[in-house]
Amino acid sequence: MSTDNIQIGKRGDEQQSEIKHIRPLVDPTTLSHRELLRGDFWRKIPAYKDVDSETFLDHKFQMRNTITSVEKLLSAVQGLVPESFYDDVADGFKHSPMSVRVSPYLLSLIDWNNAYADPLRKQFIPVGSKLLPDHPKLTLDSLSEQEDSPVRGLTHRYRDKALFLTLDTCPVYCRFCTRSYAVGIDTDDVEKVSLKARSNRWDLVFQYISERPELEDIVISGGDSYNLRASQIRQIGETLLNMTNIRRIRFATKGPAVMPQKILTDHDWVRELTWVANHGRRLHKEVVVHTHFNHPNEITEITRDAMNALYERGIVIRNQSVLQRGVNDTVDEMRELVRRLSYCNVQPYYVYAHDLVSGVEDLRTTIQTGMDIEKRVRGDVAGFNTPTFVCDAPGGGGKRQIHSFEHYERATGISVYTSPAVKGGFFLYFDPVDTLDEDNQARWADAAEHQDMVDDAMDNARANMAVAAKASSIDTSDADGPVH
Ligand SMILES: *Cc1c(COP(=O)(O)O)cnc(C)c1O
Ligand code: SF4
Repeated sequence: MSTDNIQIGKRGDEQQSEIKHIRPLVDPTTLSHRELLRGDFWRKIPAYKDVDSETFLDHKFQMRNTITSVEKLLSAVQGLVPESFYDDVADGFKHSPMSVRVSPYLLSLIDWNNAYADPLRKQFIPVGSKLLPDHPKLTLDSLSEQEDSPVRGLTHRYRDKALFLTLDTCPVYCRFCTRSYAVGIDTDDVEKVSLKARSNRWDLVFQYISERPELEDIVISGGDSYNLRASQIRQIGETLLNMTNIRRIRFATKGPAVMPQKILTDHDWVRELTWVANHGRRLHKEVVVHTHFNHPNEITEITRDAMNALYERGIVIRNQSVLQRGVNDTVDEMRELVRRLSYCNVQPYYVYAHDLVSGVEDLRTTIQTGMDIEKRVRGDVAGFNTPTFVCDAPGGGGKRQIHSFEHYERATGISVYTSPAVKGGFFLYFDPVDTLDEDNQARWADAAEHQDMVDDAMDNARANMAVAAKASSIDTSDADGPVH
């Protein structure tokens, strides 16, 4: 305790008459997370210059005018971008595992005068000139979701929870989608696994879930729950909640981040979601929404109105972000995102290290960046609003705290994770090659070097684990096993 404090103590019961600002007063500009975009911002887009507020806030307008071809995308922003940008986008999509799908709302949030640098453009609209070669260790289904799939469209990897892929469409298509093996329509690069919203496929999924008493927690995802019809939200929610083993369900949707209008104007959908949440509450079971905001610019007054509408109905909303280079990989942007989400009653739950997905190497960053940002975000807001930074271990290890690797060989960009509660053995994540020094970039360019690099990382991981084991009262041999 400092002497100052002791003196205050000595004054005893004497009433304090003046506030003492021990912390310096904040500069009001640091509270920018509360300044949400409002007004008719969409009118600066040539295609929407005559669209009034009532129309723009109608989800039917948003859906009807969602852009699904490069030509339409470019004609909507005609005059805002130079001619050369058009060719760059066309080239970008030619090499993308995802097709074009952008809502008018999303399009209007992009700063087209600065299209190359814009954090939303980067997530949804590839430009050929910025693409980097995939990491040599990358595979299409890097999380091995199909390997852990007892029924098509259900991944049962963790003991008590499973992931139900109800359908294969979304309100928009993200460049960086982990499920590019299934989600969206076929592209030049990828012929997709079919996951249609069909009741007979779901019946098998329901049967499996009901036959597994250990399952308590179901993630209803896709694709995207937003694209389920109101009646399907009810059918899936009611069926799962009525199973005695199920205690928790979550509807996963990117919708609030890309088309919040639906929550404000699709009354049927919100009514059925609310019905499911209330039904769950009656049964003492949790029904929540998990959404996916990545950048503070995705959160506007419209978003806040939509989040308030869910909050008023007692529906908890949590957020999962993906850490992306040039999008949210600075301390300022990540803090702003976390503060803004908290401000809108959305709990920041996870920040994922970017999965090893094809065609988006420019968006991935290093594990070290994730750790450095995490260190500077934790402590800024309430603990329950502080996201856990995770790496979803390639090869099916599941989500691991980003800093919990057994070893991280920063020079070659290899991190080694174990996941004893999920599966014994080792799981490797690889930093993007272009972030490494020249010597190590050259090693990745030479296939004959790859095994040596992995072996080095593994030797170091095993050595670290042997040292750690000596200090632990836990038998840690369960972590050992093959390299997945
Ligand atoms: C992420 C995920 C879950 C849910 O995990 P939480 O850590 O509880 O959010 C369940 N199954 C699979 C396959 C997943 O990828
Ligand atoms: S909304 Fe989700 S599932 Fe759909 S494309 Fe984006 S990341 Fe993939």
